[in-house]
Amino acid sequence: MNKAERTGEIIQWDADGRPVVPDDPIIPYIEGDGTGPDIWAAARPVFDTAITHAYQKNRRIIWRELLAGEKALSVYGPGTLLPEKSLEDIARYGIAIKGPLTTPVGGGFRSLNVTIRQMLDLYACFRPVRYLSGVPSPMLHPELVNIAIFRENTEDVYAGVEWKAGSREAGDIIEFINKRLKASGRRPIHEKSGIGIKPMSEFNTRRLVRRAVQYALENGYQSVTLVHKGNIMKYTEGAFRDWGYQVAREEFSEQTVTEAELHEKYKGEIPEGRIVVKDRIADAMFQQLLLRPEDYGVIATPNLNGDYLSDAAAAQVGGLGMAPGANIGDRCALFEATHGTAPKYAGLDKINPGSLILSGAEMLRFMRWTEAADLIVEALIKTVSQEIVTYDLARQMKGAREVRCSEFGAAIVENIKKLAG
Ligand code: NAP
Repeated sequence: MNKAERTGEIIQWDADGRPVVPDDPIIPYIEGDGTGPDIWAAARPVFDTAITHAYQKNRRIIWRELLAGEKALSVYGPGTLLPEKSLEDIARYGIAIKGPLTTPVGGGFRSLNVTIRQMLDLYACFRPVRYLSGVPSPMLHPELVNIAIFRENTEDVYAGVEWKAGSREAGDIIEFINKRLKASGRRPIHEKSGIGIKPMSEFNTRRLVRRAVQYALENGYQSVTLVHKGNIMKYTEGAFRDWGYQVAREEFSEQTVTEAELHEKYKGEIPEGRIVVKDRIADAMFQQLLLRPEDYGVIATPNLNGDYLSDAAAAQVGGLGMAPGANIGDRCALFEATHGTAPKYAGLDKINPGSLILSGAEMLRFMRWTEAADLIVEALIKTVSQEIVTYDLARQMKGAREVRCSEFGAAIVENIKKLAG
């Protein structure tokens, strides 16, 4: 065994914000709180088996545990929910994967997840929502859903700029604003209001939309839809739409066409090699995704819209237990189960590890280890088709065999082995 085999290598990133992955990358993982250890224990053998069967001994992941959340607290003591070293290591190793973390109430952080995304500048929250055959769904035609949501991760109301009603800061801001509102004859803000600030910038919007357009072009999607509430919030959400169109026009003029141009110039036929860039108001988009999901591919949207939209879309294809996600920056990416810690099931070996397993498959795809990613998805579909499912899917599938979290993972492992022959 040579040195590289023993220790693994560090993933590098190129100037275009893409990972350059060695055959034996070191990938850190955070188990997470609550049900996190259960889903990680079920998911890890799935990843390792898929890689072994796709690449024999030529590729493997060297896993390295990082502590965060309650586990970090129990090892390092009070005030260490998110150790500096864990943050540094996610940045250093370039790609990492995590289970859910509890948001401490009054613990000094707004949310560990939001803190990680902001401190590592993981500006694009990526949530693919695809129907996997056989998974129970409330939709008549769930197979028409195949979208990839790019949600801006660092701004909007999630930037955390807010002050409590009655605080001196809220009072100062209200006084400042009310002077201007009164001068222009507009209704003032009530003096005992809480204040939250919603910043949106050209820089952050442009890099998010750029990633969304690149993803659509590279993955065969036909459109990018900018979802916003610009009819009401003109200088934030409206500006998001305008900056989004600018990116398409200025950086992808040969590869994109707007919806208006499509009808005016091309009689509704998308020209070869191009994708359509369009926009929708956020509230209308919820209806569109239910009634005409086939009209949508990649979606680029500010933070709060993306938060609502991705959970609602996930419900159309099997719920939170089957919803993968990632937070992506230009030098680092963190893949994660999109659901929370589901504390009432902690330690019961019960919940669906599908979200973390599919997040791992997306991680492998992002690393261009496509064969391993495909094996995982195929094996998961096969397991569901055998009607071997966890409780959440079992309650929607009459006659299905309900298994534990670990058993579901083990059944996927067996199916990987069979599929790989
Ligand atoms: P949650 O943990 O997502 O759980 C809500 C419900 O969703 C569960 O009771 C369960 O529904 C269902 N569910 C979630 N994950 C599932 C899975 N893998 N398989 C099957 N069903 C699943 O939301 P929460 O209770 O609001 O949040 C708990 C904690 O997690 C909070 O501290 C929150 O801040 C944190 N959180 C963390 C993240 C993250 O780390 N990315 C994200 C969201 C929330 P049933 O009860 O119907 O079975």
